[in-house]
Amino acid sequence: MNILPLPAFTDNYIWLIEENGKATVVDPGDAKVVDNYLKENGLKLENILITHHHYDHTGGVEQLKESYECNVYGPYDSPFKGVERKLKENDEITIHGCSFKIIEVPGHTLDHIAYYSAEQDVLFCGDTLFSGGCGRIFEGTPSQMFESLSKLSTLDLTTKVYCTHEYTQSNLNFAVKVEPHNNILVEYKNKIDEKRLKNEISLPTNLKLEKDINPFLRSHVLEIKENIKDFAKINYPTDLETFTAVRSLKDNS
Ligand SMILES: [Zn+2]
Repeated sequence: MNILPLPAFTDNYIWLIEENGKATVVDPGDAKVVDNYLKENGLKLENILITHHHYDHTGGVEQLKESYECNVYGPYDSPFKGVERKLKENDEITIHGCSFKIIEVPGHTLDHIAYYSAEQDVLFCGDTLFSGGCGRIFEGTPSQMFESLSKLSTLDLTTKVYCTHEYTQSNLNFAVKVEPHNNILVEYKNKIDEKRLKNEISLPTNLKLEKDINPFLRSHVLEIKENIKDFAKINYPTDLETFTAVRSLKDNS
């Protein structure tokens, strides 16, 4: 299974899975970008996977449906009306012969799902987990987002994480402020700064790295608790209170 990024808009990636002349795209916000690639490479679009209803993830679906006979998978409760195969927690689908399990991850939106393949070691998680960050909480509660990220963090450490935005550098600029003594984080930030200077993509990331560097998966860490204590106005914040404060601090930074 070959997975590659199609850059769209200013900082989105539409992930394209390619297998024996057939293709699947995840969150095609822009039909043109996908259509061009398919035509240039003689591929047939078989499936569209949607993680959540936002327009930059769904805007190209209608046009792609007009040109290709493809299946559109997405959350069962999505406000986006183009979902044909409605998915919920623990459903399994087969994409190019590989099984993907559905994980419900509400928080960024209420209809958000992630697609996980244990056999391929890959996760398509939309706007839930980013490298060094997480999605803004637009529709859910901090507690929902915290639970969703906790679910994702129980997957195999080797899982490759395909998120949909090139936010890594700005996420890491923030992360080093809340955990400046994390050497793995500082080292990773330097590596990403170099990559972005050359305009190279920072993704996919992997779960082990994220658990080592991502402040939104590290609410248990004392240094982070210490650094957000004054902002949160809580002396001994719980992990959820820490997560909520870090999210709110980042929203206001
Ligand atoms: Zn979104």
